[in-house]
Amino acid sequence: MKTFCGRANPTTGSLEWLEEGEDYDYHQEIARSRYADMLHDKDRNVKYYQGIHAAVSRVKERGEKAIVLDIGTGTGLLSMMAASAGADFCYAIEVFKPMANAAVNIVEKNGFSDKIKVINKHSTEVTVGPDGDMQCRANILVTELFDTELIGEGALPTYEHAHKYLVQEGCEAVPHRATVYVQLVESKRMWSWNKLFPVHVEAEDGEKIIVPPSEMENCPGIPSVCDIQLNQMPTSDFTVLSDVVTMFSVDFSKPVQSASTYYRVQLEPVKSGKAQIVLSWWDIDMDPSGQINCTMAPYWAKPTSTLQWRDHWMQCVYFLPNEEPVLQGEKLFLTACRDEYSVWYKLQKAREEENKADVRVGSPVCRCRAHLLWNRPRFGELNDQNRTHQYIKSLRKVLKTDSVCLCISDGSLLPVLAHYLGAKQVQYFFFEANHLEDKIKIIEARPELLKPSHLEDKKISVLVGEPFFTTSLLPWHNLYFWYARTAVSSHLASNVTVLPQSASLHMMIVEFQDLWRIRSPCGTCEGFDVRTMDDMIKDSLNFRESKEAEPHPLWEYPCKSLSDPQEVLTFDFTKTVPQHGLSTEGSVNLLRKGRSHGAVLWMEYHLAADTSISTGLMQISNEKGNCEWNPHCKQAVYFFSSVIESETLSDPTAVTYAINFDTKTGEIAMDFKL
Ligand code: SAH
Repeated sequence: MKTFCGRANPTTGSLEWLEEGEDYDYHQEIARSRYADMLHDKDRNVKYYQGIHAAVSRVKERGEKAIVLDIGTGTGLLSMMAASAGADFCYAIEVFKPMANAAVNIVEKNGFSDKIKVINKHSTEVTVGPDGDMQCRANILVTELFDTELIGEGALPTYEHAHKYLVQEGCEAVPHRATVYVQLVESKRMWSWNKLFPVHVEAEDGEKIIVPPSEMENCPGIPSVCDIQLNQMPTSDFTVLSDVVTMFSVDFSKPVQSASTYYRVQLEPVKSGKAQIVLSWWDIDMDPSGQINCTMAPYWAKPTSTLQWRDHWMQCVYFLPNEEPVLQGEKLFLTACRDEYSVWYKLQKAREEENKADVRVGSPVCRCRAHLLWNRPRFGELNDQNRTHQYIKSLRKVLKTDSVCLCISDGSLLPVLAHYLGAKQVQYFFFEANHLEDKIKIIEARPELLKPSHLEDKKISVLVGEPFFTTSLLPWHNLYFWYARTAVSSHLASNVTVLPQSASLHMMIVEFQDLWRIRSPCGTCEGFDVRTMDDMIKDSLNFRESKEAEPHPLWEYPCKSLSDPQEVLTFDFTKTVPQHGLSTEGSVNLLRKGRSHGAVLWMEYHLAADTSISTGLMQISNEKGNCEWNPHCKQAVYFFSSVIESETLSDPTAVTYAINFDTKTGEIAMDFKL
């Protein structure tokens, strides 16, 4: 079997599929998997264990043998819990081969080989009978197949099949039930991830406003869930319009139907406002009585108990198709529609309620195409008026009435800004501007194929970019701008202005409040030795270049700086990409007490001598070193293989680094020594 791995190529700005060899064995998938995060989720583990104990006891009390089906066993954890709780036999199903192999190993190490049979299959392929994978149907069904949206990983069809073919009628299920909760809110911040707001341009001849076209205003957007760490959203960034209400629940001990359906609830706004967003999360009851409950409720909805941090389950943000003014106390109906894998919402006023036929709405399909071009953080970035202002200020300084301007960035508003700021001619790669076709020319060619005729035989006097490219995963992938600039060199006027003129890579050592868990070894989990999994992840991290930085939106993951931020490399866009690589070495002092979990890296773009845009650190907000990050961008995180504890401040520990930008591949390799 061939394995293909997708990778952004920053030198061409495109996504490429690389074929991996026989020895690949899914190292990237394992290295970046969520297994460690799940095993660090103490709250989840404890509650599963309690629920499994209770289920095994109930079956035993009935005088039956406890036969467990564990679908998606991963490390084998839940089966080992069941065996320890007294189950007679467990069938542990795991579709992902490297994980199934690890489960066999872990089960053996923990001494459960005679009680647990690991089956490397998708559950729908599992057979029952004397010659089958399972001797008989199970009477306890244990699974953990949920994602942030509950059903996105296919829990419903898996349960539907299991009830039909793999478990007995009246089986015990752990979890017993899941419940989805919703809350209606107004939030300019979150709404800015879904709609383009008017852009104000202060031009020479007065203020111009770029208004989004009406088809964009009325577009229902895309169905994919927006999952975030809602606990990082301060209450000042949204207004609650309704109480938290139960939207729907699924009883996993009964036959489950996965076919599309809808659920409706009545709401009475607690406040008047603009209904824009449905916030949603779920909880699972591990037992029928509901006493063992594991919840994803955010801080304001569950203020009493301590919050368990986890990244494998977060909360959902759903955008209503349109914003709707609502009045306190008025009667509203909220409809959740779902298919097998996803959920979407619709809000109706009471008077529309009579028209029940229209309740069920199809999954949202983007009509304006902006939602296909811009993802949620990108919408947020384009709506960041402060950021836009920096570009306007810098563009205004360099644009003249006879400027011939070329813009290189994906889905950018810069050509429109440049036009309003007076450029005579604006050229742009890949963009459909809003009725400015005669003013902004879209060049349907790659930069290296640019011909003088594209530019009407003129030379480019101003070359601009944000830079932003949709294929970029890590901050430096936007250096594709530099490659494109190099490709169009022969079309540039001798006195061309390149904006940004340069970029720099910055680095800082941090201590994460929680994010460290996702890459930290587990050792034992609820008394079970899972070190085989730790070793497997370590192997995968060491496999070729898997040990590399990974992108994370750090506004969702609090950390404190342990060192000063440091500029480590600069990239001069006024020149072409050099043949040789760029490298740097140095050391950085740890200035605060703490645990050094890793280095964070980000890019800054220098638009003018006094104007820079940071895609990373915005500021260090207090003496404790708490960091504020650009909320629209992902930063690069390089996790250290071992954590160092800095204790004394009088004799600061130094971390040495070597960072290398390979101009042939556009990738940055790094190494740190503690
Ligand atoms: N049960 C483990 C792991 C949960 S992660 C724990 O709680 O720690 C979910 C696992 O289920 C993944 O390893 C995934 O590969 C597997 N999986 C998902 N759907 C499956 C299915 N229908 N059949 C078999 N494995 C499945």
